[in-house]
Amino acid sequence: MTTDRFPTSGASAEDIIAEVTSFREGDLDWRSGRSFSLVYNPDDPALEHLVEQVGASFLHENGLNPFKYPSLQRIESDIVSAATSLVHTGPTAGSCTSGGTESLFLAIYTARETARSERGIDNPTVVAAETVHPAVAKACHYLGLELVRTPIGEDLRADPEQLAAAMDERTALVVASAPCYPYGVIDPVPAIAALAAERGVLCHVDACLGGWLLPFMERLGHSVPPWDFRVDGVTSISADVHKYGYAFKGISTVLYRDPSMIRRQWFLYSDWPGGLYGSPTTAGTRPAAAMAGAWAAIRFLGEEGYLAKASQVMEAMAGFTSGINAIDGLEVHGDPDMSVFEFGSDRFDIGAVGDVMDDAGWNLDRQPGGLHAMLFPYHCHVVHEFCADLADAVANHGESRGKAATYGGVAP
Ligand SMILES: *Cc1c(COP(=O)(O)O)cnc(C)c1O
Repeated sequence: MTTDRFPTSGASAEDIIAEVTSFREGDLDWRSGRSFSLVYNPDDPALEHLVEQVGASFLHENGLNPFKYPSLQRIESDIVSAATSLVHTGPTAGSCTSGGTESLFLAIYTARETARSERGIDNPTVVAAETVHPAVAKACHYLGLELVRTPIGEDLRADPEQLAAAMDERTALVVASAPCYPYGVIDPVPAIAALAAERGVLCHVDACLGGWLLPFMERLGHSVPPWDFRVDGVTSISADVHKYGYAFKGISTVLYRDPSMIRRQWFLYSDWPGGLYGSPTTAGTRPAAAMAGAWAAIRFLGEEGYLAKASQVMEAMAGFTSGINAIDGLEVHGDPDMSVFEFGSDRFDIGAVGDVMDDAGWNLDRQPGGLHAMLFPYHCHVVHEFCADLADAVANHGESRGKAATYGGVAP
């Protein structure tokens, strides 16, 4: 290993692999079923292997020019077509993006441009409940829109009356979550979309989390509040394939009800000595591996595969939530609609319980109001172990070590 900032001579492949493997010793082990965010363990080694194989075979291609790589045009259009069928529109109105954040950026950018050209608004706002994902705040910050956040109701969902009060002639877009990350509840989309439609405002549903799971839950007979394009007034949806679509990282979809809306998302530039430059999403050079991997996941699982994974997730959800609620003093907050939830206690220090769980090898996420978990297919194998350790932690916790509530992070 070199200590220079730039290696003088090359190392052997063997040494490089050994070295990089050693870097990973401190990484979160997402295969163990003991982590509850960031990586979605599909409990399916054959799927994992296939998406890696297909993804690796597209590592070098560039999706910037679809005419040079018709394979990528085909792959993107198949993914968008599959995604739009899940949310009941399409098949053409959408793009693959690098993740939920980019999908939200593009939906917000499209809304800004629509408000500017159709309504003459040059200082637009976006209105959303306080539970909306920080990627919405980030997009507004980057794109020069003002985000107006409103208090949630007692059921932890967006409150349509509060949203209505926050909307005015500057409002370009209202965002609802299906579900929101902190509590896993779906906002009342029909009421919110109706408020938007009455005012000629666009309505985006952030289904980054739910987009690839809720449709299958519904087909399994779970009660799922309406949230997709079957709701009048919903104009765009974001749905991440790298979450419950079980693709590896770097793939989401942004979907529009009206195919003409996507034209506002495209960037076309003709005044350049290099010729006409056209770009459908944020990236210039577009990596293709994640799209190819996602395409393979969809082909491999099919509807039946996603239904089977959804029932595993819901089995885990029933086991975890009933186990938690059965422990005296603990409760799941609100009435989560999917597989994401917060739990806490008004009797004892939930942070201290989280610390004991950490010591036992679990990695529950901290929120200001309690502990947070998202469940993946693999979690159905650890329900009993988790509930037993949690009961122990509740019985034997000390003082909280004061671990902060964090989601992402910035390494200086
Ligand atoms: C994950 C997530 C996002 C952001 O997606 P990234 O893929 O992390 O960029 C947005 N909204 C919700 C509800 C999410 O869960």
